[in-house]
Amino acid sequence: LHIQESVLEFVCGVKSALPESGKPEFAFAGKSNVGKSSLLNALVNRKALARTSAQPGKTQTINFYRVNGLVYFVDLPGYGYANASEEAKAAWGRMIERYLHQSPQLCAVFLLVDIRHEPSANDCLMYDWIVEQGLKPLIVATKADKIKRSQLKAREKLIREKLGCAEGVPLIPFSSETKQGREELFHLVDELLRG
Ligand code: GDP
Repeated sequence: LHIQESVLEFVCGVKSALPESGKPEFAFAGKSNVGKSSLLNALVNRKALARTSAQPGKTQTINFYRVNGLVYFVDLPGYGYANASEEAKAAWGRMIERYLHQSPQLCAVFLLVDIRHEPSANDCLMYDWIVEQGLKPLIVATKADKIKRSQLKAREKLIREKLGCAEGVPLIPFSSETKQGREELFHLVDELLRG
């Protein structure tokens, strides 16, 4: 995948109908502050395509970015910020579940986890949802520039163990700062598009 063009095409709130994009979709999920906006911006080489979260948890929307008129990158709302109300958390859960459940075009879900931390209970829940929906989970370990190269294998192992990843589930160390992992991620998208 060589990105030439990317456009924010649909924004879905809690109550809005999901768009029929008619194109393959790749979703991006993760807890708030994991680096999801930075990753999306790094993928499309823009400074601020996806808003970086100045106000964590403010935007409870699903954003559809059309890439090259060919695929959609779908930015799911971040979860797990401490101050969210129970009501907001429940609404978030319903929205994500609805999207995962009702999107025939969805090819795979990139689950972002911070490479430095053990995956949270919510990360594990998200992973299980993805698998339960029969979707392909792809793990992205963000902020890879924050650890030493020598720690990488151990971090990967911990993340896989905690999430309970099946054999063969891809895990890409990624850094928005250095763009490490960008080509690997595009390669995965290409492979999945080819089927
Ligand atoms: P989001 O809430 O998941 O969209 O997270 P953001 O993309 O807004 O990032 C949260 C914070 O982590 C910001 O301060 C970013 O600058 C920082 N960050 C995101 N990605 C990276 C990365 O790859 N490396 C480093 N060092 N910092 C990052």
